[in-house]
Amino acid sequence: MATAKPRPQAKIVDTTVIKRQELSDDLWFMWLEKPEGFSHKPGQYCTIGLEGIERAYSISSAPYEEAIELFIELVPKEDGGNLTPLLYNLKAGDTVSIRPRAKGIFVFKPEYKNQFMVSTVTGVVPSISFIREYLHSGQSEHHFYILEGASYHDEFGYDDELKRLSAEYPDVVTFIPTISRPTEARNSGWEGETGRANALVQKYIEVYGLKAEDTLVYACGHPGMIEDVKAQMATKGFTFEEERFWK
Ligand SMILES: Cc1cc2nc3c(=O)[nH]c(=O)nc-3n(C[C@H](O)[C@H](O)[C@H](O)COP(=O)(O)OP(=O)(O)OC[C@H]3O[C@@H](n4cnc5c(N)ncnc54)[C@H](O)[C@@H]3O)c2cc1C
Repeated sequence: MATAKPRPQAKIVDTTVIKRQELSDDLWFMWLEKPEGFSHKPGQYCTIGLEGIERAYSISSAPYEEAIELFIELVPKEDGGNLTPLLYNLKAGDTVSIRPRAKGIFVFKPEYKNQFMVSTVTGVVPSISFIREYLHSGQSEHHFYILEGASYHDEFGYDDELKRLSAEYPDVVTFIPTISRPTEARNSGWEGETGRANALVQKYIEVYGLKAEDTLVYACGHPGMIEDVKAQMATKGFTFEEERFWK
């Protein structure tokens, strides 16, 4: 019997932070230089590190873009965060380590016309890469429904982009942001959808008349949200893909 040869381990390299941009107290964007030979498929993640601590981060940029774009949430030290308190202090010009291969199977499955993507906060990242690449390549026969939940309206990292794209390409992009704490002062003035994203899945599947035969449901981000959507989809016969950011 043939034995599989171990793949040679690609060397971890250092890369430079090109830019960072704050979204809120605990959410920020970070752009990294793409190391030579680095490539990814939309929906995949990269592994970056500092001081020997490495973590996975989904990539929001599309493969055609020059930099690797990330959207990161701080898990404070007192809540058990290890790498994010270090990443949080980075500024343009600093370096992080990066594994030269992107990984992950949470990728675009073109056999489904409708891509129904449920996310919480940073979990929206893979869908951004999907949509950017899809539109860049001039395709138009699929429809991406982005149902994104957050506690507060200022935690939607890509809402301007998703609103603009849904206005420009209404047959390709539909964006439904929803907040779970509508009565809090930080959300005053919010006129959009309310409630947790997982609690709205059934509603929007019905609103858009989506059928199991040609719809793939993805869930990404908060494990509790994913568990709930997965259980709902199992009873309805929808094909389901998930990416958990933590346990
Ligand atoms: C495939 C994949 C893709 C990921 N993509 C992203 C991404 O795009 N953006 C991003 O910010 N994170 C992403 N993550 C999570 C990331 O890898 C880290 O786990 C996270 O940034 C926290 O790192 P840490 O070292 O500070 O804390 P850790 O040592 O990883 O975790 C400390 C504790 O915090 C919990 N925890 C981890 N993340 C969160 C969170 N967001 N909210 C609440 N509790 C949490 C853990 O379960 C653990 O109990 C991804 C994870 C995976 C597996």
